[in-house]
Amino acid sequence: MRTDTEVRTTARRRAAAVAVAVMAVAGTLLTAPPAEAAPRGADPQQRIEAIADRTGFDWRAVGGEFVVGCAPSTVQARCTMGAYVTSERRMYVSPRAFATTALLEYVVLHELAHLWQFTASPPELRVGVLAPFGFSGVHALEVGADCLARHLGARFPGHYGCPEEALPVVGALYAATVG
Ligand SMILES: [Zn+2]
Repeated sequence: MRTDTEVRTTARRRAAAVAVAVMAVAGTLLTAPPAEAAPRGADPQQRIEAIADRTGFDWRAVGGEFVVGCAPSTVQARCTMGAYVTSERRMYVSPRAFATTALLEYVVLHELAHLWQFTASPPELRVGVLAPFGFSGVHALEVGADCLARHLGARFPGHYGCPEEALPVVGALYAATVG
């Protein structure tokens, strides 16, 4: 007959074994999840453009251009994951953004959102669309870009974050301008 202590020890060992099994599965998923695998043969430029093309926003028609790399140091003091340079209509995507597919999608769609803000969006609503939610200036541009990135399918919550109530408002403005 087993003592209570032995029963508890056995249960703990079983729990530990289950935990190890779960960790092994999670570890496998982390190292090689099918969704995160890079498309075979796709170069970085093609991966970026494929994500942007899926949105239906004709970014080429408005003069947009994607560059794999960091924005010039004259524009940004440090290399961020992504950057949009208004004067060039260039969207820079850092090599670091390729760490996972979800991150890459977020960065591409966030920078694409800035292009939309400065080309297709009505200028007065570029920042103004976020005013009812308490955002203004550059912060409104960044939150708005996160809202649009999510509207366009980004799975990442975003660096700046889009309030849930603002998501359909930005989505409706985008639909009204791009279709
Ligand atoms: Zn931004």
